[in-house]
Amino acid sequence: MAVDPLIELRDVNKYYGKLHVLQDIQLTVGRGEVVVVIGPSGSGKSTLCRTINRLETIQSGSITLDGQPLPEEGKGLAKLRAEVGMVFQSFNLFAHKTVLQNVSLAQVKVRGRKKDEADKRSRELLTRVGLEAHAEKYPAQLSGGQQQRVAIARALAMDPKVMLFDEPTSALDPEMINEVLEVMQSLAREGMTMVVVTHEMGFARSAANRVVFMADGKIVEDRAPEDFFNNPESDRAKDFLSKIL
Ligand code: ADP
Ligand code: MG
Repeated sequence: MAVDPLIELRDVNKYYGKLHVLQDIQLTVGRGEVVVVIGPSGSGKSTLCRTINRLETIQSGSITLDGQPLPEEGKGLAKLRAEVGMVFQSFNLFAHKTVLQNVSLAQVKVRGRKKDEADKRSRELLTRVGLEAHAEKYPAQLSGGQQQRVAIARALAMDPKVMLFDEPTSALDPEMINEVLEVMQSLAREGMTMVVVTHEMGFARSAANRVVFMADGKIVEDRAPEDFFNNPESDRAKDFLSKIL
């Protein structure tokens, strides 16, 4: 079990109107842990991610990061969004800014770094994701896989405590998926706490400490990857795995 919880969701319930999209969610993510969330479309995976950085509010229950309840507004909320890095399916880079500017911008605005200091950190991170040669380019000059690696560098530049990935490779051409997964693998090896929604079962098997399987707004299984894949307990998980493997 996780001895040092970084994220804790207790009895979390969320509704969209009448739709009970998150139902009594209990989830602990330990420091340095990689939790992969899988499940059918519409099961609430994205909503779960979005509650963790408070892009979505919840109706009941509690969410804590490092033992503190998520801040509701103001400066605390901006800090939370920095500490909880998020990478989406669509890369959401600023089209009219260079790669370097994309990675530096929030460091200056949110973290209060000087521009030089931010640019230096950006170049380090661009090197880490293999894009040092592309710093002066604009997003449209990059492939999808390269843009997604910029988005990862941008999130890392905020020195997040945790990184959330919501289907980061789903919009990519197949030949670009691995370059993004490799960056994620290296983050995992370096001890980054990660919550990853993905359909990449190879990544789940090799990088996850735990697999969380969701269906209809509930966490149905929460287990080690080898147990989950070799021996799913629920009919929902068996059915899901039979369709994708
Ligand atoms: P997943 O990521 O597992 O596909 P989502 O969390 O995106 O699932 O969605 C869960 C359910 O909530 C779906 O039925 C979806 O249609 C619904 N939903 C998601 N976002 C909204 C929203 N902003 N308003 C109303 N319903 C939503
Ligand atoms: Mg989703």
